[in-house]
Amino acid sequence: MAVTESSIDVKTVSHWIGGRLAAGTSGRSGVVWNPATGEPAAKVDFASVEEVDAAVEIAGRAFTEWRATPLSRRSEVLFRLRELVDANRRQLAEIITSEHGKTLPDAMGEVARGLENIEFACGVPNLLKGGFSEQASRGIDVYQLRQPLGVVAGITPFNFPAMVPMWMFANAIACGNAFILKPSEKDPSASLFMAELIQKAGVPDGVFSVIQGDRVAVARLLEHPAVKAISFVGSTPVAKSIYETATRNGKRVQALGGAKNHMLVLPDADVAMAADAAVSAAYGSAGERCMAISVIVAVGKVADPLVSAIRERMAKIKVGPGMEEGNEMGPLITREHRDHVASYLAGAASEGASVTVDGRTDPAYKKDGFFLGTSLLDNVTPGMRCYEEEIFGPVLSVARVNTYSDGLRMINENPYGNGAAIFTRDGGAARQFQFDVDAGMVGVNVPIPVPVAYYSFGGWKTSLFGDLHMYGPEGVQFYTKTKVVTSRWPDPGTSKVDLGFPQNR
Ligand code: NAD
Repeated sequence: MAVTESSIDVKTVSHWIGGRLAAGTSGRSGVVWNPATGEPAAKVDFASVEEVDAAVEIAGRAFTEWRATPLSRRSEVLFRLRELVDANRRQLAEIITSEHGKTLPDAMGEVARGLENIEFACGVPNLLKGGFSEQASRGIDVYQLRQPLGVVAGITPFNFPAMVPMWMFANAIACGNAFILKPSEKDPSASLFMAELIQKAGVPDGVFSVIQGDRVAVARLLEHPAVKAISFVGSTPVAKSIYETATRNGKRVQALGGAKNHMLVLPDADVAMAADAAVSAAYGSAGERCMAISVIVAVGKVADPLVSAIRERMAKIKVGPGMEEGNEMGPLITREHRDHVASYLAGAASEGASVTVDGRTDPAYKKDGFFLGTSLLDNVTPGMRCYEEEIFGPVLSVARVNTYSDGLRMINENPYGNGAAIFTRDGGAARQFQFDVDAGMVGVNVPIPVPVAYYSFGGWKTSLFGDLHMYGPEGVQFYTKTKVVTSRWPDPGTSKVDLGFPQNR
């Protein structure tokens, strides 16, 4: 399919309601920065309560038609969307890089992983098959249907402006819902580009909408009676509050929060492989990934060689604008966030950690963009601020422990439980770890164990509020409700009045 010419005005990022751009009317807006230059790149409209209500009303009307659309047609539309996203990978990735800052190859990777979710949703006729029990009683059959919920909303974070929305809308739409996206106000343009592709694919107007904005728009979505479910991905305090408010308002909610992912390295691990993995997983996307490795838990004698192998690799990482070829790590999302991340470096030494590499010494730190070099903190222990809090930047901590059990205890006592990894050559130890560890996603010699689209994504403990993980089979479960039908087509000759409780035998 041909590469699409976008009609989006990058200077003002507005809403997408009823299949077209809708300029904001609230008079409120925010600035979208180019993190590589430190310059404002666009203005983003912030929706009012009335604008949210208008989008919900249009979505509600579109839902009535869409839920009646045959499965084969829905599948056909999703196949076409898959082709359109595939043909426009680079353009979407460039939009991501220009507002988020991550390198272009990293943004291409984000689009590729998001695309897997659309591919999964193409199989919706199979995914929505229910069960059928013939002859549950004499002449009676029982079967289960999966039906869409109605209007559902997704609230997404800045760090994956295309992939996380795709985690949600692919299944939501495939299952017959109308979906309203409230993207991060920090990098909102990818949402409009995707809206255009969704429309070109043949999704009827109103089935997919975008509401730009801040907490005003979110608060209205959480209380609007016609919004039946909320999918949220973002930081833990916001996830918790969204879960509490939306469930109180009777909505189905999945709210994925922050993370502090540990990588347990046993003494028998391949040090070079573990160092490659740690550096890639800690500093990729400048550490702004919820599955980034933020703490290495080094067991026994592996600590010293591992730290020196990590330092060797860190010294070679090229930091600079994400659009420039050769750069491996881009800037952080905003100046405030960069300065917040740097504050952990300033505080770590006074808490007793060793600041082995300080990212503020990287020449990029002095540039106009929101850059910070890679940093390494050693001898980190629980109780230190740099250990307890999610840093969400290019800072890797090393905690040294004597045994597997000490390391496991540290991981399980941490309040977050998104992902955890073990590096070892010992299959039995790895199997024991997957049995023992309190985390939703586990890597065995894999540092970023993001599940493929036909599994589901989600953490434990304060990394997820709700019962169902995101995308994959649990995503289909989340966006549908079941109905069980008990049916009889009797022979009129056998019909009689019977006031007893129905018996099956
Ligand atoms: P954030 O919580 O600040 O914002 C997420 C979304 O919520 C945005 O759309 C934002 O506009 C909205 N929001 C922010 N504050 C709000 C408030 N008080 N009331 C209502 N809405 C509000 O998160 P972020 O900074 O955009 O993203 C980074 C965070 O997301 C990190 O903590 C990261 O770990 C987490 N994250 C988690 C996952 C996961 O799958 N668990 C994936 C990606 C990112």
